[in-house]
Amino acid sequence: MPPKAPWTVKLNRLQRKVLIVILAIVVVPMLVAAGLASVWVSSGFEERLERWIVDSSRSSQIWLQAYQNDAIMLGTVLADDPQFLERLDATVGDPVQPPVASIARELGVTFIQIYTPNQKLVYSSVPVHMHKLWKRSQTEAVLRVTYRGKNQLAAIGITPVPRHGPARYFLVIGSLLNQDFIDELSHLTGLKTRLYYRDGAKYFDVLSVPGKSLPLDHLPAGVLNSLQKEKKPYYSVEAEQGRFRGQYTPIVDSEGYVEAIIFTGVERRGFEEVITNRVVLFLAISILGLGIGGLMGVFLSRLVLRPVKDLHNGVMQLAAQNFNTTVPVSSHDELGDLAQAFNAMAVSLREARDAQQQAFQRDKLAALGELSAALAHEIRNPLGVINAASALLEKPDQTPEKKTELTRMVREESQRVSNLVQDFLQLSRYRQPNFASIDPAVPMERALAAALAGQNNLRVQKRLQHGVTRIMADAGLLQQAWGNILTNAIQAMGGDGELLITSGSAHGYITLSIEDSGPGIAAEVLPRLFEPFFTTKEQGTGLGLSLANTLVEANSGKLYVLPPEGRGARFAMRFPVYPRSET
Ligand code: ADP
Repeated sequence: MPPKAPWTVKLNRLQRKVLIVILAIVVVPMLVAAGLASVWVSSGFEERLERWIVDSSRSSQIWLQAYQNDAIMLGTVLADDPQFLERLDATVGDPVQPPVASIARELGVTFIQIYTPNQKLVYSSVPVHMHKLWKRSQTEAVLRVTYRGKNQLAAIGITPVPRHGPARYFLVIGSLLNQDFIDELSHLTGLKTRLYYRDGAKYFDVLSVPGKSLPLDHLPAGVLNSLQKEKKPYYSVEAEQGRFRGQYTPIVDSEGYVEAIIFTGVERRGFEEVITNRVVLFLAISILGLGIGGLMGVFLSRLVLRPVKDLHNGVMQLAAQNFNTTVPVSSHDELGDLAQAFNAMAVSLREARDAQQQAFQRDKLAALGELSAALAHEIRNPLGVINAASALLEKPDQTPEKKTELTRMVREESQRVSNLVQDFLQLSRYRQPNFASIDPAVPMERALAAALAGQNNLRVQKRLQHGVTRIMADAGLLQQAWGNILTNAIQAMGGDGELLITSGSAHGYITLSIEDSGPGIAAEVLPRLFEPFFTTKEQGTGLGLSLANTLVEANSGKLYVLPPEGRGARFAMRFPVYPRSET
C-alpha cells in the first residue's frame, strides 16, 4: 500500500454526501453573495472615501485662502491710511505702527514688506528673502522664501499704495507656510497634505522632506497641464506614485493664475485597501465564508455524523461478535435514543450469549455424563462375561470342550471391548475439518477401495452423474464416514452381494448414495439408527453411524437413509455445490 499523504482526509460515504450538500447549499450561494458584496462594498467605500477626500481638500484650500484674504484685508486697511503713505514717503521710522503690528500677529501674518513699483524692496518687518518675486498682475501668491536661513513657502497678499491711481508702492503682507501649517491642515482634515508651490512651469514640495525640493512630476501625462489650464481638481486612487488616494487642488489667485497645488489624500494601506479592492475583498469574504462553512461542517459532523459513525462502528463490532461494545450517548434527540436502544440491545445480546454459553456447558457436561454411563454399561457386560469365564477356567474339573467354549467366550468379549474402544477412539480423534474444493466422489472411492480389499464376492455398480461439480469439504473426514457406512453394508450382505453407487446434482446440491443388497433396515430400527450405542449386532458398538453423521454435518452435509431401489439399505449424503454461482 502506498504511504498515505499527510494532507489527505479520508471521508466516509456519509461525510462525502454531507460535504456535497454543504457545497451545493452553502458554498455556491456564498461565493455568489461574496462576489456581489465585494462589488457593492468596495464601490460604496471607494465612493465615500473620494467624497471625504474631496470635501477635505476644499477645507485645505479655504484655509490657505484665508491666510491670503487676511493679508489683503490688512493691506487694504494700511493702504487706505493716508498717514501710512506719508510715513513711507518720509522714510523715517518704522512705517508699521505698533497697533498694526499686533493686529498682524493676531492674524498670523509673519512679515510685511514694501516694494517700489520696480519691485525694489524698501522695507521688510523681518528679514525674509524672496527667491523669485511675484508677477505684477498678481494680488496674491504662494512663493518660496528664505527666513532665518531656511527655505520656506509664504502666502502673500499684494496691495498697491495708493490703491487707486498709479501705484507708488506695493505693500506685501505674508504668512509663512511652514511644516506647522501643513501639520495644522493635516489635523484639520485628518488627511495627508502636501503643498506644491509654483516655480515657472513646474511645481515643487519643499516641506515634506527638510532640505529637499521634490518636483511634482509624477502626474499622468497631461494632468498637470489640465490642472493649470482648466483649474479643476484632479482626483486619483493612485496618487503620489500609487502610495495615496487623493486630490490635487490648484490654488488660483484673483487673476486666474495657478499659484500652487495642494495635495490632500490618505495613504493606501491596510483596511481601506482590502475593503476597496474587489478581488481581495471577494477572497477575504470567501475565505471567511469558507472558514465559517468549514466550522459549520465540523459542528454538523460532531452533531450528526459523529453519533451516526459511532452507531455504525457499534453495529460492526456487534456483527463481529463483540458484545461488550457500547456507543456514547451524546444527545437527547432521536440519535441519542437510538444509541441508548443500541446499548440496551448489546446488553441483552451479551446476557443471551452468556446464558447460551452456560446452557452449552451444562449440556456438554450432561452429554459427557450420559456418554460415560453408556460406555460404562457397554464395557461392564463383556467384562462381566470375561470375569465369569476366567473364574470357571480356573476350576480344575473343567472338560476340554468346556475350556474351549470358555476361552472362545473370553476372546469374543475381549474383541467386543476392543471394537468399542476403537470406535470410541475414532470418535475422540475427531478433528476440525480442513476444507478444500474437492470432487465429492473421491472420498467415497477411496473408502470403497479400502473396504473391498480382500472381498472377492462383492460386485460394484456405479452410476455417477454429478459431472465436474465440486464441494467444499475435508476429504479425509468424509472417507472415514463412507468407511463406516461401507463396513455396515458389507456386514449386512455377509460378504457376498452387490453395491450400487449413484451420484447426481440438482438445485445447488449434490447427492451421493450407496445401496447394498443386504436384508435392509427394519422399520422399527430406522428412528434410532443414528443414536450412539444403538446396535442390532452381536459385536456391534452402535457408534459407526452416529460418528458418520457427525462427520458429514461437520462438512456442511447431511446423512440420511433413502428408500432403496432393490431390497437392501440405501444411505445418502447431500452437500451444497461449491462455488455456489456455478450451479
Ligand atoms: P454397529 O454397526 O456397531 O451396530 P452402527 O451405528 O454402524 O453400529 O449401526 C447401527 C445399526 O444400524 C446396526 O446395528 C444395524 O442394525 C443398522 N444398520 C446399519 N447399516 C445397515 C445396513 N447396511 N443394513 C442393515 N442394517 C444396517
